[in-house]
Amino acid sequence: MIKLHDKYFKPFISEGEIMAAIKKIADQVAVDYKKETPIFVGVLNGAFMFVSDFLKAYPYPCEVSFVRLSSYQGLTSTGIVESLLDVPENIEGRSVIILEDIIDTGRTVKKLIDLFSNTKVKEFKIATLFYKSEVYNGEYDIDYFGLKIEDKFIVGYGLDYNELGRNLRAVYQLNQKHMINLVLFGKPGAGKGTQASFLKEKYNLKHISTGDVFRYNIKNGTELGTLAKSYIDKGELVPDEVTIKMLQDEVEKNPEASGFIFDGFPRTTAQAKALDDFLVSKEMRIDATIALEANDEVLIQRLLERGKVSGRSDDQDEKMIRNRFDEYNEKTAPLKDYYDDQGKFHSVNGIGSIEDITSRLAKVIEELQAV
Ligand code: AMP
Repeated sequence: MIKLHDKYFKPFISEGEIMAAIKKIADQVAVDYKKETPIFVGVLNGAFMFVSDFLKAYPYPCEVSFVRLSSYQGLTSTGIVESLLDVPENIEGRSVIILEDIIDTGRTVKKLIDLFSNTKVKEFKIATLFYKSEVYNGEYDIDYFGLKIEDKFIVGYGLDYNELGRNLRAVYQLNQKHMINLVLFGKPGAGKGTQASFLKEKYNLKHISTGDVFRYNIKNGTELGTLAKSYIDKGELVPDEVTIKMLQDEVEKNPEASGFIFDGFPRTTAQAKALDDFLVSKEMRIDATIALEANDEVLIQRLLERGKVSGRSDDQDEKMIRNRFDEYNEKTAPLKDYYDDQGKFHSVNGIGSIEDITSRLAKVIEELQAV
């Protein structure tokens, strides 16, 4: 898996397959044109690699030239094809074979035909390395193609995503399943919030901490805040109905998110089930639950330290902390089995430097993305 700008791409067509496809086209063209010296016209920018390897595979005398067109911007074609470098001179009476990296809807083909329509060439042919035959709706029948491919956004071997990826030797396709939803699991003080703040940047995820949402409500004196406070102050869990509803609202508020990190939720089996049902209704799912493991004595020290800095009252009293651990052991710990049964439970050592723990988590996440 590779990342270009904000998107992930997975291997699609290997270097070997590309070379075989090029040889196939070169052999076919060679049969048709060995008796003359054709002019191959590469379409820049994308076709530069194809032109280079094609010429190396073409066994007879030939000439080469280029036109430059541009139509793609980002992932979707703008539909407007501009000519930035015009037709080569002295092509009258010659056989011209266009070398295109990819043909999809056919807009570029149309532009090429327009460009060459007044040039009095002897013959005009189009060869494309990749051909999205299902979406091609042009009238012109493509003369030579290397590989037919489905309508997927691809990069590599000259093709780019916002200018990146042209130098890749193989072709990669956009990884559509790039949404990752993670549950960060662990006792209070395990470092869920700290790690979430790094992971959300690294993987472009929305971080939802139910504890933070409660504290925000308490600070703003909302009804929800007053209710939550009565539980939080005792180190108890806020009732499921309230928490589940609140979590759903937070997800709904972020329809554009490319994935979520759930921190401090779910904390009970009922919450985990509600989360699964809710995500299914949105065609989403939890990809992994990652537990940050640390022993109680380390955690108590961390929480007491945090309490001094953050002023969180539930972090300042060892009795309250121990009560939160009891709540965890009784209500939250069983979720390990719940996620284990779904094959989604991963455990990470939560003791060490923040960076080391982030890399342990990143390793798990990157393995998920590679699937
Ligand atoms: P946290 O910041 O995650 O440690 O949460 C602080 C407190 O908020 C907890 O001790 C609970 O009282 C409450 N809380 C946070 N998340 C949940 C949840 N998923 N279910 C019930 N109570 C929660």
